[in-house]
Amino acid sequence: MNPSINTFIGCDNSYNDADIVLFGAPYDGTTSNRPGARFAGSAIRRESYGLETYSPCLDCDLGDIKVFDSGELEVPFGDPVPVLDMIYGHVKAIINDDKLPVMLGGEHLVTLGAVRAMVEKHPDLNIIHFDAHTDLRDDYLGQKLSHATVIRRCHELIGDNRIYSYGIRSGTREEFEWAGEHIYLQRFNLDNIRETNAPVYLTIDLDVLDPSVFPATGTPEAGGISYNELISGIVSACGMNIVGCDLVELSPPYDHTGVSTATACKILRELLLCLKR
Ligand code: MN
Ligand code: MN
Repeated sequence: MNPSINTFIGCDNSYNDADIVLFGAPYDGTTSNRPGARFAGSAIRRESYGLETYSPCLDCDLGDIKVFDSGELEVPFGDPVPVLDMIYGHVKAIINDDKLPVMLGGEHLVTLGAVRAMVEKHPDLNIIHFDAHTDLRDDYLGQKLSHATVIRRCHELIGDNRIYSYGIRSGTREEFEWAGEHIYLQRFNLDNIRETNAPVYLTIDLDVLDPSVFPATGTPEAGGISYNELISGIVSACGMNIVGCDLVELSPPYDHTGVSTATACKILRELLLCLKR
């Protein structure tokens, strides 16, 4: 008898045995347009039983890797500060045990809690960021902590020329100008991802995908990339020294067909398999 099936498919190893720890951060308290990302983790786990554990694309099976799914954090509603503290503590515990954290959002702000823990362990941390949006506002509607400011807050932790943003097609003129001086920003696609030998945190805002293949997100943005382009980008990024990653901004209620959730499941499977160490 299995103790529980409330895990992502094929991720039923024990914590002690695992190399990778998957967990959910179901917070969407600063979502400005369409909330619902808090439901992503539970929807992905449920939907994952429609997925094969084997990837023909990568010729690898989830049975070949050791992943522990620690479930969803019980985050409080509203104020983002205690939520980020909770995520920080969880990631800190995982990396102190030399395991690789993979976080499911939630909205994009959850990344900040993980990066805070990461940068303590890896002072030379770099961030690879796939997104439709710059997320570089200094504040959004007066709030410093927002899905629209998260990459700016990360920059405050790691400094200039360590953030690489790809697929970007939305932001203010000021954000794009600021990016030109402080980070590497590539518009529209994930082509030719720059190599680095530094430890890398990979953050994937799923709205980088075109809304025609991925409508279930808080801030859909036309003109995005295809599923295959995203997988190619993940494969490239995972050739580097990835020390943690996240998948954020699936908001299941906005796609009644469920295809976006199924797509997120497949992306998560390929990501986990690419992280094989
Ligand atoms: Mn984002
Ligand atoms: Mn976005």
